[in-house]
Amino acid sequence: MDYSIRFTQTGGPEVLQWTAVGAGDTPLKPNEARVRHHAVGVNYIDIYHRTGLYPLPLPSGIGLEGAGLVEAVGTDVGDLKIGDRVAYAGGAPGAYSQVRNIAANILVKLPEVIDFNTGAAMMLQGLTAQYLLRRTYRVKAGETILIHAAAGGVGLIVCQWAKALGCTVIGTVSTEAKATLARAHGCDFTINYSSENFVERVKDITGGKGVSVVYDSIGKDTFFGSLDCLRPLGMMVSFGNASGPVPPFDLSELAKRGSLFITRPTLFSYVAKREELVAMADELFEMVSSGKLKIEVSHTYPLQDAAQAHTDLAARKTTGSIILVP
Ligand code: NDP
Repeated sequence: MDYSIRFTQTGGPEVLQWTAVGAGDTPLKPNEARVRHHAVGVNYIDIYHRTGLYPLPLPSGIGLEGAGLVEAVGTDVGDLKIGDRVAYAGGAPGAYSQVRNIAANILVKLPEVIDFNTGAAMMLQGLTAQYLLRRTYRVKAGETILIHAAAGGVGLIVCQWAKALGCTVIGTVSTEAKATLARAHGCDFTINYSSENFVERVKDITGGKGVSVVYDSIGKDTFFGSLDCLRPLGMMVSFGNASGPVPPFDLSELAKRGSLFITRPTLFSYVAKREELVAMADELFEMVSSGKLKIEVSHTYPLQDAAQAHTDLAARKTTGSIILVP
């Protein structure tokens, strides 16, 4: 019998239950592949699912990212075979499992030089960094950008990638240890937003001009401050809610700060077309394989201890990426 982490009601980490599911014995649909996970990624969206901020029909599996080996393929799956090394981000929640059947069109082949732990740690956060920097607002060399939670999973990847593209990177963090880590990953200026006014610091650093783009995954606590950090016609990318959702606001707030642009993107729109997913993954794999991007798998938990991983992530105790090992 194989096991998954599932939940039957929303709530704290304790709702996550180690559950016998027998996924390995469930017949495959024609478009599915069976993947035996070697590592599973933990992401902040898993917390939103568990708490009900992003509602799921219950009972539900949880988790959107994994890496492992193909054990079987459905009759309509032409481009994968048993034994292929694969990774994914997205699809139906349920990655916190030893083995699962999953839509084959979200799987990508993992290059040999990338191990399973790295693969599971980098897909969701790395593809997010790719679309944020290359598609939502295509940064250019010489631009100054602001990324919040710079020492987090997405944060460390964005810092390195933006630096590699020639940007000046300003990052916010809540502790000095996180500031040191962010600077070691390409962040030129760190701001401790627990003790410093980040808007004033950004104004100082940019000589009063403001930044071209803010990547804000904090939400409620930073939203208006982030708008205040932008230059006229700058782009606000509000892509997460770690402190709670952004409350409704008056659009004239954008006009009075200099005709700002704003978007609220999600990875899943950007990878919805298979050819776009493959192109993004290729770019990410090249960045990692070439050593330009180092994925920091900072925290590893047994799959059964997923609740502890959630507790630590929500308590801001983690840096970089988190994986669960079945
Ligand atoms: P992180 O590793 O970045 O963890 C979240 C970090 O947010 C914490 O470490 C903490 O860093 C910071 N934070 C600030 N305020 C709070 C708070 N009140 N409670 C908890 N944390 C807080 O997580 P991920 O890399 O998995 O995700 C980062 C963000 O990006 C999340 O908001 C996530 O939802 C979003 N995201 C959005 C995607 C999209 O496509 N829209 C895709 C992927 C991620 P510090 O202590 O330094 O403040």
